[in-house]
Amino acid sequence: MSIVRNRLLSVMVFIMTVLLLLGAGGRFNRAYGAEKNVVTTGSNVRLRSSASLDGEILASLPKGAALKETSRSGEWAAVNYNGKQGYVNTRFLADAAAFPDPAATANITPQTPVKTGGHVVCIDPGHQAKGDSKTEPNGPGSGVMKARVTGGTHGSVSGLYEYQLTLAVGEALKNELTARGYTVYMTRTSHDVNISNMERAQYAASVGAEISVRLHANGSTNPAVSGALALAPSAANPYVAGIAASSQSLSSKVLSGYCAATGMANKGVQANDTMTGMNWCTMPVTIIEMGFMTNPSDDANMANPDFQKKMAKGIADGIDAYF
Ligand SMILES: [Zn+2]
Repeated sequence: MSIVRNRLLSVMVFIMTVLLLLGAGGRFNRAYGAEKNVVTTGSNVRLRSSASLDGEILASLPKGAALKETSRSGEWAAVNYNGKQGYVNTRFLADAAAFPDPAATANITPQTPVKTGGHVVCIDPGHQAKGDSKTEPNGPGSGVMKARVTGGTHGSVSGLYEYQLTLAVGEALKNELTARGYTVYMTRTSHDVNISNMERAQYAASVGAEISVRLHANGSTNPAVSGALALAPSAANPYVAGIAASSQSLSSKVLSGYCAATGMANKGVQANDTMTGMNWCTMPVTIIEMGFMTNPSDDANMANPDFQKKMAKGIADGIDAYF
C-alpha cells in the first residue's frame, strides 16, 4: 500500500513540477540579446501601456508599421514604436524579414503581363511559292481527291502574292503571340516549300498545337467586294464534327478581334466542310480570309507592314478571347 502511495505521490509531484515549469515559462519574459524588427500584420493595431487589454491605448498602428520588439511574454510583446514604449498583441506581429518594406520592392520592374501564357498555337500561312496539283484525300478515308496545295490569289494593286502576304502576317502574328506568352509553331517560314493542306493539319497535331490558325486572303471577280470572313467546319462535317463548335467559337473570336483592330468589314463566320486542311484537323481550327486582294483598298491596306501589325494584334486578341 505504502509503495503504491509513494509512487502515486512521486508521480503527482512530477506532474505538478511539469505544470509549474510550463506555467512559469509563460510568465518569464523571453528577452532578446538584441531588438528584433517586427511589423504589424493588421490595421489599427493597438499599442497599449501594459500587457493587457485593460492597458491604456497609446497609439493605433497602421498595417505594416515597423516596430522594435524587445521582449515577449505570452501573447504580448514589449515594443518600441517611433520611440514610444508599449505592448502589442503578438497575433498582429510578424517578423519584418518576412514582410519586406513595400517601398523597397516598388522599384522592381514588373514582368510584362502574360494573358494566356503556355498555350500552344499553330499558324499556317496559306499557300506557298508554287502550288502542287498532285492530289490527296479531302479528309480521312475520303474518296474525294483534291490538289495538295493551290496557288492562291494575288493583289490587284500591290502585286503581292497571297503566299507572301500570309507569311508576312504569320510572322507578325508569331511575334505578337510569343510576346504574349504563347508557344507558337508555323507550318512554314519560307515560300520555297511543298507542304500539302493535309500535311499542315498533321504538322499542327505533331507539335501538340491546341488550335490551328490558318491565314488566307480572298479573291473575287468583282473588285468591289471587300472585307474579312472566317471559315469553320459545320456540325454535319463527316470528318471533324467533334471540333465544329470549338472551331466556330475560335473563328468568331478571331474574326471579331481582327475586324476590331483593323476596321475591316466583318462578313461573318461561314461553315465549310470542303477544306482538306480543316478536315484533317484534330484541334479547333479556323481559316481567316483576311480581306480581298482583288479589292484595291483591302489590298493596299494589307500590303502595308504597319497595317499588318494591326492585323496580327487583332488576331492575337481573338486568340486571347478564345482561351
Ligand atoms: Zn488562300
